[in-house]
Amino acid sequence: MADFSELRAALVARQQAQRYRTRLTQAAPCGRWADVDGERLLNFSSNDYLGLASDARVRTAFQRGVACHGVGSGASHLVCGHSSVHQALEDALADAVGQPRALLFSSGYMANYGVLTALLRSGDAVFQDRLNHASLLDGGLASGARFRRYPHNDAATLGEWLATSSAPRRLVVTDGVFSMDGDVAPLAALAAASERHNAWLMVDDAHGFGVLGSDGAGSVAAAGVAPQQVAVHMATLGKALGVYGAFVAGDEALIDYLIQFSRPYIYTTALPPALASAALTALTLMQTEPWRRDKLRALGAEFQRGLADLGLPPTGSDTAIQPIVLGDDRRTLQVAQRLRAAGLLVGAIRPPTVPDGAARLRVTLSASHELADVRLLLTALERALASPGPAASESR
Ligand code: PMP
Repeated sequence: MADFSELRAALVARQQAQRYRTRLTQAAPCGRWADVDGERLLNFSSNDYLGLASDARVRTAFQRGVACHGVGSGASHLVCGHSSVHQALEDALADAVGQPRALLFSSGYMANYGVLTALLRSGDAVFQDRLNHASLLDGGLASGARFRRYPHNDAATLGEWLATSSAPRRLVVTDGVFSMDGDVAPLAALAAASERHNAWLMVDDAHGFGVLGSDGAGSVAAAGVAPQQVAVHMATLGKALGVYGAFVAGDEALIDYLIQFSRPYIYTTALPPALASAALTALTLMQTEPWRRDKLRALGAEFQRGLADLGLPPTGSDTAIQPIVLGDDRRTLQVAQRLRAAGLLVGAIRPPTVPDGAARLRVTLSASHELADVRLLLTALERALASPGPAASESR
């Protein structure tokens, strides 16, 4: 019998540190409501920012996709898994972000890992924002390149580091919208620093695509940065589009290179084509229904106003992600549990996902919410924050 005592000890230690990760089992389609253990909860924790995950037209596209293409792709893209619907989606995604080509990956994690490990090798250098997503950090570390993390959104320090780097290939990598803070990267300054020092800029726009910019083109367009200034434009299909998967967009040469050399692209089964059909429909809705972005912004403004009325610091976010940093892990869990008891689902994000001492409630808004939902959340927050110290039963 395998001896897992060390693993058990690590689990106990994580539990004692209030950092134990748990899963909920959802019984409802993703949307305004969550159904957990028979409880109907207002859901402020999904990444379904535009409310498209259970849109009837996206569902129909998925069902038609299954009828036309079957359930699975049957193989990797380079064997026989690449279908006409994948191609149509790649073309539409490239257009949406103003790049010549796009390439689908089976997930955002794989896209980031696959780009960084393909483009970089020992001797190269990668400069990443300190708060970049784990998949970017993991890909950078695995690439073997010199790996440096610059202070959050600090383009000046990045410029200084680039100026002293003699690595033959230099890649600057940033989230467009930071996943745990909801703030946006200073893309114009990062693009200028990258250009000045002849480095490539990669933007992971998982949380900006669909949410920012006209037609939802994302944080690059919203920052007034030209598509050509971004060497690698990555975004996911599982957040604002409500589906699954990811893409990387850029120059012809970049995409052809990834097809040849990116192992997580080459050695995995292609996304089910029906998912690509659903994503194509969701993409059209993202572009043609700007009211979703307008509503999201109005909900965000209401939430910010309400936080100010409660005397809480502003979240500093104009995106769907509205964090309330409480600092203490136990307190964060406690407040999330109280919100849940009041019928609201809000994520309690603790280290190591965020830095030590920066535990937070990660409130995410969606176009599927109503203003009344936000007001309910504010009222519940006021009560949950007002009650003192956690009861023993709450500090699990
Ligand atoms: N990048 C960022 C910024 C993300 O937040 C996420 C998902 N949490 C990913 C990449 C990974 O995307 P996926 O869920 O499609 O693997």
